Amino acid sequence: MNAPLATPRTDALPAILRLRRTKVVATLGPASSTPEVVAALFDRAVDVFRLNFSHGTHEEHRRRTEILRDLERRTGRPVCVMADLQGPKLRLATFAAGRIDLVAGQTFRLDLSLEPGDATRVGLPHPEIFAALVPGAELLLDDGKVRLEVESHGPDHAETRVISGTSLSDRKGVNVPGVALPISALTAKDRADLAFALDLGVDWIALSFVQRPEDVAEARALIGGRAALLAKIEKPQAIDHLEAIVDLADGIMVARGDLGVEMPPEDVPTLQKTIVREARRAGKPVIVATQMLESMVTSPAPTRAEASDVATAIFDGADAVMLSAETAAGAYPLEAVTMMDRIARRVEKDPIWRQMSDAQRVPPRILTPSDAITAAASQVARSLGAAAIVTYTTSGSTTLRAARERPEMPILCMARSAAISRRLMIAYGVHAVIGPVPDGFADKIRGAVRTAATEGLAAPGDLVVVTAGDGDGVAGSTNVLRVATVTTEGMPDMPECKAR
Ligand code: PGA
Ligand code: MN
Repeated sequence: MNAPLATPRTDALPAILRLRRTKVVATLGPASSTPEVVAALFDRAVDVFRLNFSHGTHEEHRRRTEILRDLERRTGRPVCVMADLQGPKLRLATFAAGRIDLVAGQTFRLDLSLEPGDATRVGLPHPEIFAALVPGAELLLDDGKVRLEVESHGPDHAETRVISGTSLSDRKGVNVPGVALPISALTAKDRADLAFALDLGVDWIALSFVQRPEDVAEARALIGGRAALLAKIEKPQAIDHLEAIVDLADGIMVARGDLGVEMPPEDVPTLQKTIVREARRAGKPVIVATQMLESMVTSPAPTRAEASDVATAIFDGADAVMLSAETAAGAYPLEAVTMMDRIARRVEKDPIWRQMSDAQRVPPRILTPSDAITAAASQVARSLGAAAIVTYTTSGSTTLRAARERPEMPILCMARSAAISRRLMIAYGVHAVIGPVPDGFADKIRGAVRTAATEGLAAPGDLVVVTAGDGDGVAGSTNVLRVATVTTEGMPDMPECKAR
């Protein structure tokens, strides 16, 4: 008799033990919003779940968050949730006929009129664009399929010439790459979505269309510490202020969808490397996003080029790789996350990856005792062949410093709050747990060894390297590095070590 197909395990520890350090972010959508599919995504690979506020209702996002928190309760594992705000997506108005044909060289007018458009003009209901335009500026419509050059403009219109493109239809998106627009990265919708997402208790807020460091500061003030803030780099203006934006944000996304519209395609690969490196320098988790396994929206296997793209992001040093439509709306969400997992595991086995990661290492910029100890922990762990690094943390900063060193062994994160444990699941190598943190120093070391063992990260006889502070619960107090040996004492039913 044939055995029935095993249902994915969601309640057993080893099933959630990742055999890779790179993290997988997956967007939830219509294709992935039942408790069964969400549990299977988590079970197979997903470390961070993204709610995309460009799509879906508040009710749908609430339901997804409930499913995720329920998953966390059932598994006892921190589940990281990111709310991604749409930002000011600029769009054309509509055409009387729904669509029009264009020819290169013709003139085409954009204006604030509410009249439906025709072959000569269309509404563009964004006065801030007309205010910021300059003659010669380029407008990209429909993800760059149509390019217009501005010949003249006033406060309520622009006369343009068609450089390329053959048709336009209702409400197509508009990008203005060369011009810093005097608009906030937060529209009225974004503010409402932000308040809603914070009420849901999400762990990360992703901010779209960041142009200036002030955009990040504004969002940070609104968030008020209730979630971590990730700045999406998708505007050329953000590249000009990259260092300041990275310093102000808690995390970074290389948002290649819009970045690839606003910048020439040949610029995207090197920008990806620049952004990833800058984020790693600052010790901020960085996600590479968009079209990573795009063909898996309709196909159960990726193209060679896509597999190579995911691998490249990992070679570049990203903390996480992201899926969008593949998991939100595609036909193969489980296959897509499994493919991410397989590619990451394969890359991380490659000695070239290790060499490249080490070569990109940047020494800590501010040499606090905590910086020095965390950098040393990684060195010591490598020299001794330790099975895991264990970090005690209050704010999460010690664990992020450890992740920045890109150690080959997992980083067990013992945080004082579940919110910090969830947040840190986005970072390279971090295996966070939820549970009480012991107070005294000796108990901390015992707790570190015991947890590393019960989580399946270390086996009897293995060494673990522990960083801790002696001031209880004071952020930035890490000042002790201890090497400890795992023993079976008091742990009769220790699981097998699977993390290697
Ligand atoms: P989006 O952001 O999918 O929300 O537009 C990601 C990107 O632009 O790459
Ligand atoms: Mn975008």
